[in-house]
Parts: sequence; structure tokens; C-alpha cells
Amino acid sequence: MSTIVIGAGPAGLAAARTLGREGEDVVVLEAQPHVGGRTRSVRDRLRHGQPADLGASFIDIGQDKLLQYCAALGVDLTPQVALFPTDPDGRLTAASPLRVTLVVDGKRLDDAERDWLADEVRSALEATPPERTEPIPAWAARAGLSPRTRRMFCWQTGYNPVHEASQVPMAMLEPPHVGRVCWMMADGTDALARAMAAGVDVRLEQPVRAVRRRRGHLVVETDTDRFTADDVVVATPVTPSLAIGFDPVLPAWKVDALLATPMTQGGKVIGQYADGAALVERLGLSTMSDGPISLAWARPVGPEDTVVVLGLLADRGDGVLRDEARCLRALDELLGAATGLPVQRLAGLVQDWTREPYAGGVVSTLMGDFPRLPSLLAQGVGPIHFAGEHTAEMWQTSMDGALRSGERAAAEVLHRRHLRRPIATLTS
Ligand SMILES: Cc1cc2nc3c(=O)[nH]c(=O)nc-3n(C[C@H](O)[C@H](O)[C@H](O)COP(=O)(O)OP(=O)(O)OC[C@H]3O[C@@H](n4cnc5c(N)ncnc54)[C@H](O)[C@@H]3O)c2cc1C
Repeated sequence: MSTIVIGAGPAGLAAARTLGREGEDVVVLEAQPHVGGRTRSVRDRLRHGQPADLGASFIDIGQDKLLQYCAALGVDLTPQVALFPTDPDGRLTAASPLRVTLVVDGKRLDDAERDWLADEVRSALEATPPERTEPIPAWAARAGLSPRTRRMFCWQTGYNPVHEASQVPMAMLEPPHVGRVCWMMADGTDALARAMAAGVDVRLEQPVRAVRRRRGHLVVETDTDRFTADDVVVATPVTPSLAIGFDPVLPAWKVDALLATPMTQGGKVIGQYADGAALVERLGLSTMSDGPISLAWARPVGPEDTVVVLGLLADRGDGVLRDEARCLRALDELLGAATGLPVQRLAGLVQDWTREPYAGGVVSTLMGDFPRLPSLLAQGVGPIHFAGEHTAEMWQTSMDGALRSGERAAAEVLHRRHLRRPIATLTS
């Protein structure tokens, strides 16, 4: 029996590997000339072959599926890092991210001012507990945060990166589940996708345009070819999934669930700098700002004392993300303000996920119907199954959720065939 998987990101590759191990004939159709999707890294833009992670960077503690895959496939991790410190009582709250180096109006806040701001948020969280679905600025206003604190609190969503704080509920920030203890992939994030793709039949530059259900089988059409299969796993992000023509049309509940799941918009700016050790020491865990770059952090210091610094930009519709020179200048200025040191950039690049047609943005955002949406997004339609970070019941939006969703979709395919024996996962 055969399955076609659409999309060679972590979700599609996890589905293909799981099915392949069960003896299924699997072909993965990938639109781009490379695997990895939003976990892509490039290695030809920075000096010394240093990887530039264009999408995902961090594995957070608790992302056990992702950690298992890395261990099983020999993907090395960096030493443990933290993006945010905890509050003074050791708890991680929505106030904690504001305890990093803060650059406001181009100037670094002194530690006392920063702590005052974070403490105000922490007190407000206790006095006025947020509702999960309450939009972020709505809570900040209801809780009575002072104007400066409110501005910084709402602006921090840029690190997700979210272009408009009112588009996201407080559940995104409180309780925070990322940033306290994490790792990066030592050789760049796409090391995992490349390892997962080994031995899988992945056809690159095959953008799927239509999936047609015909008597007893499915026909999948790309720009140049047609493939037939018994089952299809759609492992594409929300927005590109909406551009695939399904014949017959997907049921209204499925289309409604996809339409009710917008994607955040933004990109990443990556610079490589001289005097890495000194910059990293002064930068601390990370820096957050009210400028175009919401959050910046450094990878471990590399060859010849160089360091790669990465920044997230929400696409606020002001054209900054489209202007590479301006983004890189903003990164230089942020780094200079945060560290108080002169900075010398050696190389740099910008990745605009808003303009990436096969991504459609950064990650999915759940709006409103929390209990129901993930299960509708994950629900199959006969021989058509759905995977991807947006369909994950756990660790939605992340690489971990994507891997879990791929394994789940593969299990559904096998279940349809009444292959009820235990399913081997990972590298077994
Ligand atoms: C800037 C940024 C920062 C992030 N940071 C983190 C982080 O620190 N930690 C974390 O865990 N996650 C992070 N993520 C999220 C993480 O990258 C995603 O959760 C993960 O890549 C989702 O995997 P996926 O397989 O669902 O989708 P993708 O990785 O997007 O893969 C989908 C694949 O489908 C392909 N495709 C799309 N349409 C078609 C079509 N019509 N035909 C054929 N192929 C198609 C795409 O080209 C792509 O290869 C970040 C993402 C971004 C963009």
C-alpha cells in the first residue's frame, strides 16, 4: 500500500519515516529545493561555514519527542542555555521575559528600572489573573499597568514574532512554557531534517497543487507530475494547505478550522560579529527591545572569536522586513545599545517568512476556540490525513509538536489498514 506525504518539514518527515518502517511505500513531495521547511539553515552566507538558522532555533525543556529524535539520529546540541531569567522567587511568569536586557527608545534600561517594570507586571498577574482567551493588550489595560510597562509588555509579543499583540490571547504568555532551559542544534537546526530525510524517497521541487479522490485511490498533482496513492498525509502549514485544490472539496468544518487559525507574520535577521566573547558576556541571556527587532540572542562563540547573533522581527507592515540593510543596521544598533560596545559586523542576512509562499508566515496562532480547534485541524477526511505543528495536541507551533503530529498521522494511515500491531517510531 502506498502513501504520499506532502511537505518535507519535521511533520512530513516523521510521518514518512514511521510509515516506511511499517513497510509502507512512501513518497514525500516537497515544493522547495531543500528539506526542513521552517527549520531551514543555510551555511554559505556566514564566515567559517557557520550555520544561519532561518527559522526555528530552540529546543525547550519538555520537548521530549524532539530530544529523542536528536539523540537517536546523532544530532548534537549546544550546551544548555536560557533565554529568560526567572522571577526572584524562582518562578517563570509572563513578567520573566522582561528581566532580560531591555533596550527602550534605543537605550538600555538600567537594572533597577527594568526590575521595577517586571515587578509591576508580576504584581498585576497576581492581582488580576488573566483569562486564557483574553487578548494581551486587553489584559494589560484591565490589570491597570502603567503606560510604559503596558507598552513594553505588549511589545514583547514581537519575539514570537507576533505583528499585533491584540491578535493573541494571554495563553501565549502566561504561563510561559519556553525560554527557561533550552538547547540549540550545534550544527544548525536543519541538521535534524537532513538526518531524518536520509533513506526517505523525497522528491524536491514538487509543489502539490491538487489532491483528487478517485474510485479506490487518490491522485496527487504537482506542476509537472501526477502520483497515485492509497492515502495522503498533508503536512503543509496552515496557509499553503488552504491553497491546495481538494476534489471533492474538504468538508466545511475542516476549511473553517484552517481559516480560524491565522499564522503570525515576521522574520529573522542574522548577523555575524567580531569580538564574540566580549559581546556575549555583555549581552547576557538575550535582549528585548521596542525597536524593529523584538528579541536577539547569540549562538555559542565560533571560530576566530566570531559570534552569530539572531533577532526576531514581527512584520508590522512598515516595510522594515523587506529592507535587508535596514534590518542589519537595526541589529547592529541593538547590539551596540545592549552591550555598550562598538560592533563590527562581518556578514549578515534576513529571512522574511511573511513572503515565503510555502510557509505563509511563522507559526499558527490559535484564536478563541482552544478546546476544539486542534482536534479539528488534526482530524482526517477519509484517506486524507493532516499533520503539521498546527495540528499538534501538545507543543503546538513547535518542532516537537510537528514531529508528534507526523507520527500521529502515520498511525492513522496504518490504523485504516487494520495494521493494529505496535508502531515502531524513531530509528528502530
Ligand atoms: C522564525 C521562526 C522561529 C521559530 N522558532 C522555533 C523554535 O525556537 N523552536 C521550535 O520548536 N519551533 C520554532 N519554530 C517553529 C518550527 O519551525 C515549526 O513548528 C516546524 O518547522 C513545523 O514543522 P512542519 O513540518 O509542521 O512545517 P514546516 O517546517 O513548515 O514544513 C512544511 C513543508 O511543507 C512544504 N510545502 C508547503 N506547501 C507545499 C505544497 N503545496 N507542496 C509540497 N510541499 C509544500 C514546505 O516547503 C515545507 O518544507 C520557528 C519558526 C519560525 C519561522
